[in-house]
Amino acid sequence: MSYDECYVKSVIRTIPDWPEPGVQFRDITPLFKDPKALRMISDAFIQRYIDSDITHIASIDARGFLIGSIMSYHLNIPLVLVRKRGKLPGKTISQEYKLEYGTSAVEMQIDAVAKGDRVLIFDDLIATGGTILAACNIVKELGATVSEAAALIDLPDLQGSTKIQDAGVPVHTLLAYEGL
Ligand code: AMP
Repeated sequence: MSYDECYVKSVIRTIPDWPEPGVQFRDITPLFKDPKALRMISDAFIQRYIDSDITHIASIDARGFLIGSIMSYHLNIPLVLVRKRGKLPGKTISQEYKLEYGTSAVEMQIDAVAKGDRVLIFDDLIATGGTILAACNIVKELGATVSEAAALIDLPDLQGSTKIQDAGVPVHTLLAYEGL
């Protein structure tokens, strides 16, 4: 089945003014009710990384987990979790960041990745880039290298993907939406 951007976009729902006025929330939950669209995007990511040398996928809480785990299974690459603060047991390392709406922090377990690992960071969407940049910082602090950051959706007007690239991390996204 070939990737059809128009079809995938037709399945993603935009919720205006949620969770705050002015935010166009790109709701990917209908994608998981549509096996054809889910297969298209999963296959597109799997094909991109099938011959890559990445050793780990670090997927971001919570929607990043859904596609990240499909990639992990098909690429036979370990999945490690980047979670919101306070969700992971054991020894963790955390990094604060600014969201498009509010502030937050992400954490990883300190044994998630290590020196020599080449990590793909995965989330559903890049807005300001703060979440992925925070995850990049943790991965680097643990001694590993960030090979690439990937997401289903980019919001280029918020310039997050540019910030991530300026930090020396290549970015790969499948879809772009104008505006916030
Ligand atoms: P940022 O750190 O600003 O790049 O925000 C990215 C994170 O916030 C992702 O985990 C997204 O799930 C979520 N997010 C931010 N803005 C939106 C939006 N307009 N629609 C859906 N999710 C969003």
